[in-house]
Amino acid sequence: MYRSHNCGELRISHINTEVTLSGWVQKSRNKGFIIWIDLRDRYGMTQLVFDEERTPKEMMKRAEDLGREFVVQVKGKVIERASKNPNMPTGDIEILVSELTILNESKLPPFTIEDETDGGEELRMKYRYLDIRRNPVKNNLIFRHKVTQEVRNYLSKEGFIEVETPYLIKSTPEGARDFVVPSRMNEGQFYALPQSPQTFKQLLMVGGMDKYFQIVKCFRDEDLSADRQPEFTQIDCEMAFIDQEDILNTFEGLTRHLLKEVNGVEIDKFPRMLYDDAMRLYGNDKPDIRFGMAFGELNDVAQHKEFGVFNSAELVVGIAVPGGNSYTRKDIDKLIDWVRRPQVGALGMVYSRCNDDGSFKSSVDKFYDQDDLAKWAEVTGAKAGDLVCVLSGNANKVRAQLSALRMELAERLGLRDPKVFAPLWVMDFPLLEWDEDSERFHAMHHPFTSPKPGQLELLKTKPGDVKANAYDLVLNGNEIGGGSIRIHDKETQALMFDYLGFTPEEAKAQFGFLMDAFEYGAPPHGGLAFGLDRLVAILGGQETIRDFIAFPKNNNGRDVMIDAPAPIDDKQLTELGLKLNLKS
Ligand code: ASP
Repeated sequence: MYRSHNCGELRISHINTEVTLSGWVQKSRNKGFIIWIDLRDRYGMTQLVFDEERTPKEMMKRAEDLGREFVVQVKGKVIERASKNPNMPTGDIEILVSELTILNESKLPPFTIEDETDGGEELRMKYRYLDIRRNPVKNNLIFRHKVTQEVRNYLSKEGFIEVETPYLIKSTPEGARDFVVPSRMNEGQFYALPQSPQTFKQLLMVGGMDKYFQIVKCFRDEDLSADRQPEFTQIDCEMAFIDQEDILNTFEGLTRHLLKEVNGVEIDKFPRMLYDDAMRLYGNDKPDIRFGMAFGELNDVAQHKEFGVFNSAELVVGIAVPGGNSYTRKDIDKLIDWVRRPQVGALGMVYSRCNDDGSFKSSVDKFYDQDDLAKWAEVTGAKAGDLVCVLSGNANKVRAQLSALRMELAERLGLRDPKVFAPLWVMDFPLLEWDEDSERFHAMHHPFTSPKPGQLELLKTKPGDVKANAYDLVLNGNEIGGGSIRIHDKETQALMFDYLGFTPEEAKAQFGFLMDAFEYGAPPHGGLAFGLDRLVAILGGQETIRDFIAFPKNNNGRDVMIDAPAPIDDKQLTELGLKLNLKS
């Protein structure tokens, strides 16, 4: 028996109990005549004590030599501490050790295994197994477990069945590049790793599973960021015989359940916003609505004067910055520099100060009088003491720029409180999106998404205007889930592939299996998928998804611990019938 109790368990009520504990040496304090050691495991920390009077000399010596992260087993008696530590759950007691066994020694760890560590991120990723011993990482993994457990509880209760789908498949186009896996048994042929189980979950609906979910790894070969990993986890869901309303209610229910069980937050009905409104009011299809600062479009009230910059712009749009009139000229100049950075890309910024006495002072006073500026304030909702910031230019670009400014200012103003949760459904996304590079339309969500009823015809004349039965769930300015009602008849699906530029032969070669299935009684169906890593991070009040993944990849897509990806040897290449043709 390695232990009778864990290291987080013993209390004053256990006084005089003989116990056995196992764990890691967190730290020791040696006063010569007395040695204290903190013993740690997943559950907590317990103080061990060895002293000259009660501990045999030989054991005293061994206790003295214990290094950090040694794995030890001790037997001993629970005694009351002379000086208690109210900050530790086990702080009332300590163990007077009578037997000490070293189960394993440890090299000196490359960084301190403490909440605040001295290790940089790469180093901690290289020794991730040591990083996982630290509370912040350990607690995040436990938190993630709690979330997935609650997901399973809720969906199982609602009648969903968890079904696994294959990883070695044929490409599912979801807008990213596929990871491919060469097949040894089928020389010259490749599997693709799923970008999501999209077609499989649809086939499960054809198979009559009715309500499916899966907590599943997905793979996308995209450029990475703190918020993106090449392999990530989805809570993937699909339902048959439902309409959009059923889906929204079911998954709003799931999200509400998680917020309540995991965060203790109760949220009533989630607001809904049309995609077009989200773009118009926030310049963004995933608006953070924890705070206001909605856009005010100023074309009507700013394009009637001699100010050429505004007159030639497709869109003139502004936001009111609460309390922004307190910014000094220097602060505002810095803000202008900020919007002109290449990452944001604005050419400049016009502003108008809303003074406490109701007057205005703008950077374009030469062109606009007090009445004009009063209208700017009215349209952007600015009050006395605020600052109106105005950008202008190409509508799409300027919306994205002002959205970036809105988020930056909100961050600086402390309006993005991670403890506040503001969910939002964004609905009726466009079906298609114009791609500048390939000069053709792509499916905005994926090619299996159905257009809004009655809009199929519009595809021929104004494809860009067609809206889809597609929805995203947004939480605090992050897309945490998205899905759609699917096409479920062969004709419409064939038409869709046609509009997306697939020849009938290409469509058949890539998706023949799905089109075939649609000929055998496919029920109406739809679904969505949550990005679990991001969802967990946001519920956990943090930004970086890496911190919630046990073994994450770095920004170059590398696992620096196991050193992957890595070359394979010639024998393996030959077996696979592959020859390398490297660019460098
Ligand atoms: N497969 C989609 C995605 O990964 C989700 C869905 O449409 O259900 O975004």
